[in-house]
Amino acid sequence: MLRLDHARMLLEQSGNVQSLKGGANVEMLQALIDGLCDLSQRDALTGLANRRYFASVLDREIDRVARSGESALLLMVDIDHFKRVNDEHGHSAGDVVIQEVAKRLLQCVRPMDTVARYGGEEFAVVLPDCPAFFATVVTERIRVAIERDPFTVTSGVDLNCTISIGGAFAPGWIRSSSALWVERADLQLYSAKTQGRNRAILEQTPMSTVSAEEKTLLFGNLNDDFPESIEAVPGDLTQG
Ligand code: GH3
Ligand code: MG
Ligand code: MG
Repeated sequence: MLRLDHARMLLEQSGNVQSLKGGANVEMLQALIDGLCDLSQRDALTGLANRRYFASVLDREIDRVARSGESALLLMVDIDHFKRVNDEHGHSAGDVVIQEVAKRLLQCVRPMDTVARYGGEEFAVVLPDCPAFFATVVTERIRVAIERDPFTVTSGVDLNCTISIGGAFAPGWIRSSSALWVERADLQLYSAKTQGRNRAILEQTPMSTVSAEEKTLLFGNLNDDFPESIEAVPGDLTQG
């Protein structure tokens, strides 16, 4: 099959058929490219941003925060005891829960935020320009949105689900890395799990210290002269 036809078929299967009618003119090719770009950024099960697109959003955001000092929050979200859903109701019931959690997450955030499927039954939410008071509100809104209403997995079968959430702010004015940001949020997610699940924990002191790895990113080999910790920037976002 010609590559062009293959691309059209992929888009048709995904339901993205806008402007794909007609011959191979410039507009149609542009629509094809746009459609394929969009497809390459989405998770097939949920339609959310996929891991690849999430990584690019995170890189862009951490760079912006390092230059502007503006706040940005990353939430890592994991469904509690999800294996039980698969074990007791089957894999397709599990898929329905993942899809419904995705929908509810999208309903809780602003259009400027990115909700991604990070893997399996884990999600990530990037919230640019997110002050501490809003972080608390949106995180609790997300937790409640999952807990409040049961999930109908097949007719007559309603399941109650909860999620655990870990959150971390990107360090303003500091050149850090996406991997460290994810690690910090993941650490809070781990705490939320070990403290009993169905809860959200946001990192409290991310901006007051610089890790050894961040020192290296900032100063390369000159970091021997760098103090062990630095004071938080004025208006520390963790102080609420
Ligand atoms: P915890 O509260 O500690 O998170 O417990 P858990 O049972 O949710 O544990 P874990 O996060 O390790 O379980 C993930 C499970 O998700 C295991 C895997 O079989 C299932 N899973 C991963 N991807 C999919 C998927 O696309 N569909 C379905 N139905 N299940 C999936
Ligand atoms: Mg998991
Ligand atoms: Mg889980």
